[in-house]
Amino acid sequence: MSNTSIQKKKKILVVEDSRLTSQVITDILNEYGYAVEATAAGEKAVQKACGSNPPDLILMDIELQGEMNGIDAANRILRFRDIPIVFLTANTSGEIFEKIKSVKGYGFVEKGTDKYALLSTVEMALKLHEANREANFYKQVVENSLNEIYVFHPETLKFIMVNRGARENLGYTMAELANMTPLDLKPEFKTENFKKLIGPLTEGKQEKIKFNTVHRRKDGSLYPVEVHLQQHTHSGGNVYVAVVFDLTEIKEMEEELQSREEQLKNITRTAWDAIIMIDEKGRTSFWNPAAEKLFGYRREEVIGKELHRLLVPHEEAYRQYKEAFQRFQFSGKGNVIGKTVEMKARHKNGGLLDVELSINALQHKGGWQAVAVVRDISQRKRLEEELRLLSVTDALTSVYNRRYFTQKLEEEIERAKRSGSKFSLIMLDIDRFKSINDRFGHNAGDCVLKNMTEMIKNRIRKIDCLARWGGEEFVILLPDTPVEKAVILAEELRQNLSQMDIPGVGRVTASFGVAGFRPGDTVDTLVQRADDLMYEAKAAGRNCVRYREECK
Ligand code: GH3
Ligand code: MG
Ligand code: MG
Repeated sequence: MSNTSIQKKKKILVVEDSRLTSQVITDILNEYGYAVEATAAGEKAVQKACGSNPPDLILMDIELQGEMNGIDAANRILRFRDIPIVFLTANTSGEIFEKIKSVKGYGFVEKGTDKYALLSTVEMALKLHEANREANFYKQVVENSLNEIYVFHPETLKFIMVNRGARENLGYTMAELANMTPLDLKPEFKTENFKKLIGPLTEGKQEKIKFNTVHRRKDGSLYPVEVHLQQHTHSGGNVYVAVVFDLTEIKEMEEELQSREEQLKNITRTAWDAIIMIDEKGRTSFWNPAAEKLFGYRREEVIGKELHRLLVPHEEAYRQYKEAFQRFQFSGKGNVIGKTVEMKARHKNGGLLDVELSINALQHKGGWQAVAVVRDISQRKRLEEELRLLSVTDALTSVYNRRYFTQKLEEEIERAKRSGSKFSLIMLDIDRFKSINDRFGHNAGDCVLKNMTEMIKNRIRKIDCLARWGGEEFVILLPDTPVEKAVILAEELRQNLSQMDIPGVGRVTASFGVAGFRPGDTVDTLVQRADDLMYEAKAAGRNCVRYREECK
């Protein structure tokens, strides 16, 4: 502040009705680098001082020509402008002294005194004014600060100054506060413990004390505060200065944050799904109880560890993960990010789990982290598989049903067309099954069906497909099998069956028809041919195999 005023020439207004005195003073001031303007009348002086280019200081004669004397003019000017005024007097009577005292002036100088006395009075008045201005500025800063500022006496603890921010928050006037101490605002404190708290300041052991407490407003309401207390020297003694921050908003935000954190904790704690977080280095940073249950690892066992090493089902999956993670690390992107995928994961006990995984990327402090929600879908997968099996198998014998067989046969026909591979079909029907039912009962008949299918299943290959065509009629699809080989198998099955001893029934036989695939065959023509052959076997006396050579 003082820098800017030093830069330009100081302007002094000389108000003096004696032309000679005015000239002498003007000359001296000019000589010492001041810009001078002179006037003889009080009214003129007021005009100039209150105008657009006011002087930095006024030298004001007390007795003036015209209506207005110097004291009146000074009072008028000071009402509008903060300009230092030094009076010029011809004599120094007590009366004049009293008059001057009544004005907020900057002293006086006797007319005709030597030039150094004049110059030093002017200079001191300018300096004092500058100092006052600075002091006022800082006072305003303190007064208008949005933080609460309190100054109080070290012994009586009474408030000396409390700024506007504090007064407005508390609801007290300065007059009320002047008779109060910090203890009146701090319900948590008694005189002894407050003095104990500020002891380190008093003893000079600490420069500053910071503590949190609550302040009580005039209306009795409370607000949380953080207090920064310091000791300052003032007028030779010490005072305490407290800067106080109202923490209401911060506390509310903290509480809000805490309750959200609590909520989040509860959600993750009670979630059925595993919730896992991986930090930017691929280490586990979050692992909820559902994750512990799903994978068998306790929190302490996985936090900070590289998780994939533990959970991937095999080495190849780990290698793929490593590659994908490198890309993820710097881009936050990846094939599975933002998606839900089904995969296998390894349990701590070594077993494989079917899981459904949803991963999202989170940017944190410049790195990419991943949040994964993992759901155990083993049971769902088992159910799905059970349902699928139910939909393709026969309930009594557990062999495939007609619908599934037809589908398989269609596929095999397509394959044979493409590759020219040979395959065959065996159709078989239990002989005189009706009479078995009639003699031994329906359950015994069921038992025959189960025993026979069991025997066939055990004999045929994995790629062969045994199905119940209807009632006691079954069909076997034999991929990559020419009809001669199928006939051998049919013959073996016929013999096996005829030699089986079925509990409660004894011996049963069946008749077999064997047909090889011919180009141009459809499901219907091929099945029909096998069926016809099977009936030929029936007609030939049952318990035998009938077949037809394929066309060459
Ligand atoms: P054929 O030697 O000419 O084949 O004589 P069949 O008695 O075996 O033939 P038919 O078609 O006259 O009789 C088939 C019987 O099979 C009639 C039916 O009650 C019985 N059957 C069909 N499905 C089942 C089943 O799931 N369980 C039992 N126990 N019997 C069944
Ligand atoms: Mg039959
Ligand atoms: Mg039949």
